[in-house]
Amino acid sequence: DRVDNPYDGAKVYVNPEWSANAAAEPGGSRIANQPTGVWLDRTAAINGAGGKMGLRDHLDEALEQKGSGELVVQLVIYNLPGRDCAALASNGELGPTEIDRYKSEYIDPIAEILADSKYASLRIVTTVEIDSLPNLVTNVSPRATATPNCDTMKANGNYVKGVGYALNKLGDAPNVYNYVDAGHHGWLGWDDNFGPSAELFKQAATAEGATVADVHGFIANTANYSALKEDHFSINDNVAGKSVRESKWVSWNRYVDELSYAQALREKLVSLGFDSNIGMLIDTSRNGWGGANRPTGPGATTSVDTYVDGGRYDRRYNTGNWCNQAGAGLGERPQASPEPGIDAYVWMKPPGESDGASEEIDNDEGKGFDRMCDPTYTGNPRNDNNMSGALGDAPISGHWFSAQFQELMKNAYPPL
Ligand code: BGC
Repeated sequence: DRVDNPYDGAKVYVNPEWSANAAAEPGGSRIANQPTGVWLDRTAAINGAGGKMGLRDHLDEALEQKGSGELVVQLVIYNLPGRDCAALASNGELGPTEIDRYKSEYIDPIAEILADSKYASLRIVTTVEIDSLPNLVTNVSPRATATPNCDTMKANGNYVKGVGYALNKLGDAPNVYNYVDAGHHGWLGWDDNFGPSAELFKQAATAEGATVADVHGFIANTANYSALKEDHFSINDNVAGKSVRESKWVSWNRYVDELSYAQALREKLVSLGFDSNIGMLIDTSRNGWGGANRPTGPGATTSVDTYVDGGRYDRRYNTGNWCNQAGAGLGERPQASPEPGIDAYVWMKPPGESDGASEEIDNDEGKGFDRMCDPTYTGNPRNDNNMSGALGDAPISGHWFSAQFQELMKNAYPPL
């Protein structure tokens, strides 16, 4: 039987491959023993792509790390047809119509391994299909942010079917805990995104044989940079006769940080029929925003903009920026039950792994070049035409990016 919060009273699996990369960096041993997500980002990753550990290798190692206590393994299910429809950096191997291959070549083999009785003593957390469903809400016609690929994936239904199928099949193992991706506050926190996203999550969770009982919770901020808690301003503040919501940074969003967003979304999802005990995960791997530029108090009350911009921890140009953000730092260290409604802070995105190449780089992983990863790019409607804020000289997504790892450690908050 599943426990309410799999992270309670459990250690969390340390991926030896990430750990070795971290430990090889100057200063990296300070965090090399932290748990991070294992990304199954292509079919070949199941058996181990390019000499890397496959899923059984990880689960066998997890049994070693577990010893006689409890242990959580964190997997990222990430291979939908037409993946990453609003961007290019993490386009995958399956074309928009290849839902049958997704089911038979990707989900079925994973489900079979997870159901192996050998692994029954592990608590297996799966985070399901990062960035997929949110794209179908915000990046489709008739919005100015629409992309042709997201229109296609909405029309053919293959994201919804894929997520439903994954939840249903993976959820058959009684020790698997499914958490569905829920974007982040700087993406779905607006009224016209929030409710429709929650409804779409419900639709996917009841597609292809899945039921709401297959969903243990949701994960916010995966691989993103949104601050956990903004201490120096709140959504209810008024400054110089205006609401904080009118500031350029907040721009009518209902939320200013991930904790308030995740807790509110949890309530909304329960109201739509998800179990009242669902829990949220928040990816805090890169949302620390520490270092010399971290504000120590509120901004000047001259205007809502000086107030918000002077006080905010999140130093991005815009919350739509997602690629290798300059100035970011490691966030809260992974921990269980940090706040009401939150099952854990996790490092699902392994710090030091790139979000995308800053220029075109040939590869056999299906990864494209997205200008949001180019520091000279001046933006598009999805980041309100701001500079990308990305670090230069980045390798393709998922590859080790030493300079970013160093900067994340330097700007860690809490500091290392
Ligand atoms: C990449 C994956 C990678 C993951 C974790 C994603 O952006 O597309 O290939 O495994 O990040 O670093």
